[in-house]
Amino acid sequence: MQTNFSLAQLADPHVAESEKILRKCVHCGFCTATCPTYVTLGNELDSPRGRIYLIKDMLENGRPADKEIVTHIDRCLSCLACMTTCPSGVNYMHLVDHARAHIEETYKRPLLDRLTRAMLAFVLPYPARFRAALKLAKLGKPFIGLFERLPALKPLSAMLRLAPASIPSASPMASPGIHAGQGTKRGRVAILTGCAQSVLDPAINETTIALLNRLGVEVVVPQGEACCGALVHHMGREAAALASARQNVDAWTRAIDQGGLDAIVITASGCGTAIKDYGFMLRLDPAYADKAAKVSALAKDITEYLSGLDLPEPVRKPGTVVAYHSACSMQHGQKITRQPKELLAKAGFVVREPREGHLCCGSAGTYNILQPEISAKLRDRKVKNIEATGAEIVATGNIGCITQIASAAKLPVVHTVKLLDWAYGGPRPDGVSEAELVAAE
Ligand code: SF4
Ligand code: SF4
Repeated sequence: MQTNFSLAQLADPHVAESEKILRKCVHCGFCTATCPTYVTLGNELDSPRGRIYLIKDMLENGRPADKEIVTHIDRCLSCLACMTTCPSGVNYMHLVDHARAHIEETYKRPLLDRLTRAMLAFVLPYPARFRAALKLAKLGKPFIGLFERLPALKPLSAMLRLAPASIPSASPMASPGIHAGQGTKRGRVAILTGCAQSVLDPAINETTIALLNRLGVEVVVPQGEACCGALVHHMGREAAALASARQNVDAWTRAIDQGGLDAIVITASGCGTAIKDYGFMLRLDPAYADKAAKVSALAKDITEYLSGLDLPEPVRKPGTVVAYHSACSMQHGQKITRQPKELLAKAGFVVREPREGHLCCGSAGTYNILQPEISAKLRDRKVKNIEATGAEIVATGNIGCITQIASAAKLPVVHTVKLLDWAYGGPRPDGVSEAELVAAE
């Protein structure tokens, strides 16, 4: 694509980066077919190619964002299906991240939208605040129907709908410390404790630590970890995202200095995509660029890490059918497609992949709160495809997808690591019965 940026504009490294990305796009439109918003809404401006044109026009003309571009960029899920499809290697993720930061700097949203976004950024990345908000949400649940009738309050009703009926207690294993491996030491990793996941399902990391320990891997929960920053990054709050990234880079660098790390294990693929991008996000900061690149290189999804270990034979023989839902951040963001399915199969599960596996479930960070209507359409489409597999259980590797799919599916939705842990001798995952775990003879 031809671009017309001035030399003065290109002196801004963010603009220069976006210009490089724009020049790679050859307008072919292959990406439109796999874009969930284009598939759902049928509008070119809600396709990757349409958004790329809008972003180009805004940046080239040095214009502040306007209502039209905000509407179409806000509808983008950042699912990155377009990056998987694009034959020209267009880095849509970095382009849309730049556009979102530009929108945040130059566009004044309506008051309620500003308040909703400020509240999400204030609450979600902080487990104590999020836990308190979920308790409050219980009081608001009876008013969901009322809020839903008022268009401006739809995000609030979406939030209340997603809030779980009960909130698990905080996990003592999330506190900073070292969990020693059993038997011969096979590795040493740090684990990201995370924010929303640690409140909604602390058992995911507990299970991960227990499984890794049984396999002989020492797990460090470093002092001073923060939210990965993805939630605020996707809202265009670049300074807050970079502050989280720096805090984590500091925490993991200390852990590396204190005993070395083979990996930084992440159990939410949305966080993994963000952390693997720290090297890029902090490339312009001389104090952090090298450390951030090192952290990104060490970041591994739990299934990626487990695939590199020589796993023993599973203790149990499940044989049950599992529908594997590949989160967008897993398959498009991190290009991890094979490992989770192979691990489940090796553990004795029969793995089925739902149709249209490339399409997002509509969770996408805060998307299911900020764009509840499109999100619900995508969720229902996803659940229909999952249920058509005839599976007993759904496995996936991202807490956002677990919450989203479980809000409409009739079958249990669990993190992949919980099924693996059970097959290798761990306890039965909560919410899944023995009958669902073991196939009838
Ligand atoms: S990130 Fe997803 S929703 Fe956004 S343009 Fe790409 S495919 Fe479409
Ligand atoms: S597939 Fe790639 S090159 Fe083709 S229009 Fe989409 S982003 Fe541009």
